[in-house]
Amino acid sequence: MGGMTTRETTGPAYGDGTRAVRAGLPEPVRHEPTLPGPVFAAHFHLPGEPTGPYTYGRDENPTWTHLERALGELEAPGEEGVETLAFASGMAAISAVLFSQLRAGDSVVLPSDGYQVLPLVAEQLTAFGIEVRTAPTGDDAQLDVLEGARLLWIETPSNPGLDVCDIRRLVAAAHARGTLVAVDNTLATPLGQRPLELGADFSVASGTKMLTGHGDLLLGYVASANAGAMAAVRRWRKIVGAIPGPMEAWLAHRSLATLRLRADRQSATALAVAEALRGRPEVSGLRYPGLPDDPSHRIAARQMQRFGCVVSFTLPSRARADRFLDALRLVDDATSFGGVRSTAERRGRWGGDAVPEGFIRLSVGAEDPEDLVADLLGALDTSAE
Ligand SMILES: *Cc1c(COP(=O)(O)O)cnc(C)c1O
Repeated sequence: MGGMTTRETTGPAYGDGTRAVRAGLPEPVRHEPTLPGPVFAAHFHLPGEPTGPYTYGRDENPTWTHLERALGELEAPGEEGVETLAFASGMAAISAVLFSQLRAGDSVVLPSDGYQVLPLVAEQLTAFGIEVRTAPTGDDAQLDVLEGARLLWIETPSNPGLDVCDIRRLVAAAHARGTLVAVDNTLATPLGQRPLELGADFSVASGTKMLTGHGDLLLGYVASANAGAMAAVRRWRKIVGAIPGPMEAWLAHRSLATLRLRADRQSATALAVAEALRGRPEVSGLRYPGLPDDPSHRIAARQMQRFGCVVSFTLPSRARADRFLDALRLVDDATSFGGVRSTAERRGRWGGDAVPEGFIRLSVGAEDPEDLVADLLGALDTSAE
């Protein structure tokens, strides 16, 4: 493997698009590709002393190295000492932080309105003797239950409710009490929000969604400048073995090059869609952090560079929501979000979120905005009684 040093073109002096296309690229090597292909290896030649960088495929892989550098450069441009670790999925990354940092007797604060798997995680933490407290994301309500906690877990914007909390404010309160802070950066992506710069100890995300954007792989990562904490996260990855496949890691890295284009386009179209939906009488509870009068907008505008591609709203009934989804032509009825093809779902069908029966989570893709708006408004018309 030649050329493992990163080029100096991804620092803070460059724009997001420039950094996205160059992130994690090794120094050019004559006759080698720009982004080296996936390395499929369970083990590496290792005569004598078993020293790294590459020994066994559960511990390291050169394809991860490139991707981890890229993600670190996007999460913390120009910062030395930020380490990033790639995982098999967002949940693998989230679990790695929680289960490596918490011990029996510790307390942790989770959002009560976060990703739908968090309640299962909370059950498991409790079974291991960890006290779990929850509070909503909105109004920085997690502040009220912080006292004595070892770790504060923030998800902003929250999925699927799209509430936003003030990361800087929560970090200041947490650090004053010796509490570590992790931010789930899935919805925003590092081009939407940089939690480490806002003071968080960990930025954790699912790369399955907007980060990679094509709906064809699962991935997760943890980024942090806390070397001790990251040693424990790395150890957890080794113990549990929740590692990304080389193909997924390579596809993810390849997809980062278009992150700026996708994030710009999808955010702009999401705003246009939200503006079109707000004029409709059957739409209530419309949320998009980019709407100037959204309850999340003031704080979102302070800490986010882009507001993401998810718009949520509620239709009058479950039946209406189902008819609406059925009438859409350009929007697939599917879960997940962030892909170049728009998707939507009636979130209540999973049973894990506290949402009304007619609640729709819409993920805006890269289609032409006029086509998408026309499809959505047409489906509202068709689905009316
Ligand atoms: C999807 C999601 C996750 C879990 O990611 P996977 O890659 O599906 O494991 C975690 N947090 C948020 C906010 C998500 O949307």
